[in-house]
Amino acid sequence: MTRYNFHTHSQFDDGKEPLENYVAASIEKGLDALGFSAHVPLPLDNQWSLPAKDFPDYVAEVKKLKEQYKDQIKLFLGLEIDYIPGVSEDFEGWMKNTPLDYCIGSVHLVREPESGKFWFIDGPAEGYFKGVEEVFGGDIRKAVTTFYQQSIQMVKTQPLHIIGHMDKVKMHNKEKLFRQSESWYVELIDSLLKAIKEKGVIIELNTRGVYTGKTTEYFPSPFVLERCLHFGIPVMVNTDAHHPSQLDSHFDEGVTLLKDIGFKKMTTPFFEVEI
Ligand SMILES: [Zn+2]
Ligand SMILES: [Zn+2]
Repeated sequence: MTRYNFHTHSQFDDGKEPLENYVAASIEKGLDALGFSAHVPLPLDNQWSLPAKDFPDYVAEVKKLKEQYKDQIKLFLGLEIDYIPGVSEDFEGWMKNTPLDYCIGSVHLVREPESGKFWFIDGPAEGYFKGVEEVFGGDIRKAVTTFYQQSIQMVKTQPLHIIGHMDKVKMHNKEKLFRQSESWYVELIDSLLKAIKEKGVIIELNTRGVYTGKTTEYFPSPFVLERCLHFGIPVMVNTDAHHPSQLDSHFDEGVTLLKDIGFKKMTTPFFEVEI
């Protein structure tokens, strides 16, 4: 079976090592394809994204490695692009000005449309719960709804190939403030899936939450994957590696889960893999 990973972060953004170490580890682990997806530069002070000044070096380095390792592994130049209405640059701009092979669209920062305040769903748990209080007046349903509305708007208006960790909003919740079985939650999932299906976007089964111990379920949850199969939405497995050792973390377990659910293949932006 062809092995791959299209969601990775290096020293250029919030990952741990130089790009070349990811290439070497991928070859050693028997991966056939590796995509680099640095967090896009953002016009906001933050700890995770690629600084704008380093963007040309990132592109040049990936190009160099592609050529250097072309007989051993297929390499792809990508970005994980944040969608924050009114703040982030349109995906089109990044795709047009740079020879990107693909992009992942993700929501990490939820913007409350009226106040313009941010809810950071991907940082420490304290910040997540504090954000629900301060940005949404303690209304978890409003907070989660805003996350999914922002995701739907991203899918409908931006040219993304893969949607990153599509239900990451559940990461710190752990069924405390809401349950994934509540009908309003399932309806939000279905609205997002409908947009994804219409636009032909690929959903990644992202294993990171599980191997870092932050979640017991992958992103998205099995019930969402069952709906993807039902709606005919393409899926793939990515590990969102921030270190070369994580390049295949829970990849095989993710594939097994997809098989158990009933998927017969995985779809990447460049090829399909029978499973
Ligand atoms: Zn992400
Ligand atoms: Zn990522």
